[in-house]
Amino acid sequence: MSSAEITNKTAAELSQAMTAGEVTSEEVTQAFLDRIDAVEPKLNAFLHIDAEGALNTARAVDAARAKGEELGPLAGVPIAVKDIVATKGMPTTAASKMLEGWIPPYDATIVERIKAAGMPILGKTNLDEFAMGSSTEYSAFGATRNPWDLGRIPGGSGGGSSAAVAARMAPLAVGTDTGGSIRQPGAVTGTFGAKPTYGVNSRYGLIAFSSSLDTPGPVSRTALDAALLQEVMGGHDPMDATSIRQALPSVTEAARSGASGDLSGVRLGIVKEFATGEGADPGVVAAYQSSVDALVKLGAEVVEVSCPHFKYGLPAYYLISPSECSSNLARYDSVRYGLRVGDDGTRSLEEVMAATREAGFGPEVKRRIILGTYALSAGYVDQFYGQAQKVRTLIMRDFEAAYESVDALVSPTTPFTAFEFGSRTQDPYQMYLADLYTIPSNLAGGPALSVPSGLSDGLPAGLQVMAPTMRDDVSYRIGAAFESTQAPLLSDQTPDVAGKEVAQ
Ligand code: GLN
Repeated sequence: MSSAEITNKTAAELSQAMTAGEVTSEEVTQAFLDRIDAVEPKLNAFLHIDAEGALNTARAVDAARAKGEELGPLAGVPIAVKDIVATKGMPTTAASKMLEGWIPPYDATIVERIKAAGMPILGKTNLDEFAMGSSTEYSAFGATRNPWDLGRIPGGSGGGSSAAVAARMAPLAVGTDTGGSIRQPGAVTGTFGAKPTYGVNSRYGLIAFSSSLDTPGPVSRTALDAALLQEVMGGHDPMDATSIRQALPSVTEAARSGASGDLSGVRLGIVKEFATGEGADPGVVAAYQSSVDALVKLGAEVVEVSCPHFKYGLPAYYLISPSECSSNLARYDSVRYGLRVGDDGTRSLEEVMAATREAGFGPEVKRRIILGTYALSAGYVDQFYGQAQKVRTLIMRDFEAAYESVDALVSPTTPFTAFEFGSRTQDPYQMYLADLYTIPSNLAGGPALSVPSGLSDGLPAGLQVMAPTMRDDVSYRIGAAFESTQAPLLSDQTPDVAGKEVAQ
């Protein structure tokens, strides 16, 4: 099997090929590492590559398979991990100078599970610093470029994970989604990404941004691949106080049943407030309308529902998440973690702390810490933070009311396709708008995913499917059914990187 044949396969196909003895995990892992060598200089999707570690795992899996040991479905399938997730013995930076050089002494629970499943870890992927942003432009180590157009952003914060999967540098990746950081990068790179129900995937070992919202999840090319990874990562973890005990209904079964393309009997709600496309690219609106037509052709019944508080999601999120971030990031105090600047024996502790935080944090992180500290300050806490929490409750009620009459909600994933570098960093609000459609499900906690929905002017767009809490299976079924109507986004369609210049 040629390298290009390997890297173009989905995780499920690779698993099958390995089980059938057509290819070894070592060959698969080497093919992805070669692909990384070839395209990484153009993309900057990785902050760390662990070729040796990945190959060692691959060989161990091959040996176990040769002995006839029972292996899980993703054994031997390589994966990339967003660099905000702790990996034992492997640098973890959150794309911040504050944590440069930190080597965690432990694995995040989801990483422990990925390792136990026999998945070689290729490396750590780039992101906006501490996962704050929608473009990776706020990474302290340079932005990731979008494989579809190297002059454009790959989304954020998890642009590295999505770009790596889009450019065939990894068949799967781990992302984290606080306000859309799995789904929006998925939409703008033509990949699949799912934010599970909050609490289904452990946060233990995630570098905290906004604890009531942070949700790790799968990044992939297909619904089935995401489901397979979800089942490796998910499940109760006593190390995370917000971890849910109950198990999810099987998302792999849902993805497989959805693949037949039958959605008869499924009621889908179009969120009226998002359907007008206000502030959205006309191309995104057009792609969304044809997505809805495709869902109707699959037999779904589509009705309009009103979620009147969704439009307040953005301001509520940009008070709640900075508030939690200002508290979580207080630990980077030059004493307990990471960077220390100016400790030359002449400065007071407070001066060293100030110099360290000044040097260690980038502009967006500082903006959020300042905003969050203000929103939580004694005189303003009710007016800002308290008010935002009330809005959060109203958004949950909007979802509950909608799910009385529909099984799931659909919307575009993000209002615009991949934008050009520098076009939204001048005005923070322009960057925040990228999260308009993704934020409500973070605030309410329910599952939401983004599935590729074709191209708009040559750039990928995404369809978002939201479902009730613990009904991730419903979103996977719909996502997989929709996917079956779409032409696969093959590597030779990704113009700059995956196709012409470095075709293997
Ligand atoms: N773009 C959003 C933000 O900047 C989402 C971040 C995320 O989901 N981690 O906060």
